[in-house]
Amino acid sequence: MFDSLSNRLGDVFGKLRGRGALTEADVRAAMREVRIALLEADVALPVVRSFVDQVTELAIGQNVLRSVTPGQQVVKIVSDALTEMLGSETAELDLNVTPPAVIMMVGLQGSGKTTTTAKIAKRLKDKERKKVLMASLDVNRPAAQEQLAVLGQQIDVATLPIIAGQQPVEIAQRAMQAAKLQGFDVLILDTAGRLHVDQQLMDEMQAVSRAANPAETLLVVDSLTGQDAVQVAQRFTDQVPLTGVVLTRMDGDARGGAALSMRAVTGKPIKFAGTGEKLDGLELFQPSRIAGRILGMGDVVSLVERAAETIQAEEAEAMAKKMAKGQFDLDDLRTQLNQMRRMGGLGALAAMIPGLKKAQAAMAQSGADDKMLVHFDAIMGSMTPKERAKPEIINAKRKIRIANGSGTSVQQVNKVLKMHQEMSTAMKRIRKMGGLKGLGALFG
Ligand code: GDP
Repeated sequence: MFDSLSNRLGDVFGKLRGRGALTEADVRAAMREVRIALLEADVALPVVRSFVDQVTELAIGQNVLRSVTPGQQVVKIVSDALTEMLGSETAELDLNVTPPAVIMMVGLQGSGKTTTTAKIAKRLKDKERKKVLMASLDVNRPAAQEQLAVLGQQIDVATLPIIAGQQPVEIAQRAMQAAKLQGFDVLILDTAGRLHVDQQLMDEMQAVSRAANPAETLLVVDSLTGQDAVQVAQRFTDQVPLTGVVLTRMDGDARGGAALSMRAVTGKPIKFAGTGEKLDGLELFQPSRIAGRILGMGDVVSLVERAAETIQAEEAEAMAKKMAKGQFDLDDLRTQLNQMRRMGGLGALAAMIPGLKKAQAAMAQSGADDKMLVHFDAIMGSMTPKERAKPEIINAKRKIRIANGSGTSVQQVNKVLKMHQEMSTAMKRIRKMGGLKGLGALFG
């Protein structure tokens, strides 16, 4: 899921982030591509429109275009807007009522309603130690009631005994009574589905809802049905007081539009994602993680946040001047390494930037780790200012002195010198790419 959308957006932002400077026209061109990518992913048109308008307005703000890393800032704006579109916060079940708390499951036939009923029961039982009772109200298909009983046995959760000929509201009432008498914490009502939304189904749903007064009414929709899923959700929203949505088959290759439109169209949070046929295939729906997955570029967002806190504007300015002159001495290297340490060390950086994983693997091979950053700082502290400014004067004798002074070895001193050489080369390359607008390019 989201693969092709993720690839498309990756291309758009790859181009943006590769640049030192951005103009308004660059941003507008990128947003046109974002718009197409979202429409192709099957996101509802009004949702796409408001998304693109909102992001464009924020992204062409002067603070963004003039910042050190405009491309990264735009990606962060997009990521924030995407998270908001998906619902911002993770929405847990709210079962804070006098037990038994009733969860009413609604949705079309085949959407995965019965499977999801069992998945939620299992989750409540395993994770929250709740005593759960499940009841099927599907009187049109006796097989549906049996299906739920079989699932109940598999997960060791009780189901209401079947009595032939009872109507949905009667079954709901009997289930509530049984739950009360037998001390169940939660009662899940699996209502009947239909192939299409029709008035009879809605009437039945409303009657059950009035009788059972559910704490949660969850609409189950199949994410593979795309725009249809969104329309179904809208019809249900108008007729039953929903509290949330469950999107099933998120493990499939749907284009993702349903997930992206659902919140905006229904105004209800997506609470769970179904991620497989097995009964443990249910995940809390986490908007920020999903946005991260769609943008497919590691946690660039928290990196930008941290970099903004860490890299002082003046430091960046001073560095930019030096680089413009083609100078990058050991003092600069020291500043850089200390910045890395303040940003959480090599590991934290690598975890956030996919591209950096390779670099880190290479560094790890050469024995680089966070402890090494501390050693490097000590080594550079043992050098004279003249040595730091002109590393080429550091001969064998000076190396021994520096190693002794910092409590390290000549080998480690050599590593610092080699690292400096490699960084200088990299810096020269960045300078050719457009100067230090480019600290961003280091990360991109
Ligand atoms: P209902 O008619 O709405 O109750 O639908 P069912 O619960 O019987 O599910 C219909 C089919 O979808 C079954 O074969 C389920 O195993 C399958 N299914 C349900 N949820 C998921 C899911 O999240 N992922 C996948 N891959 N299959 C699912």
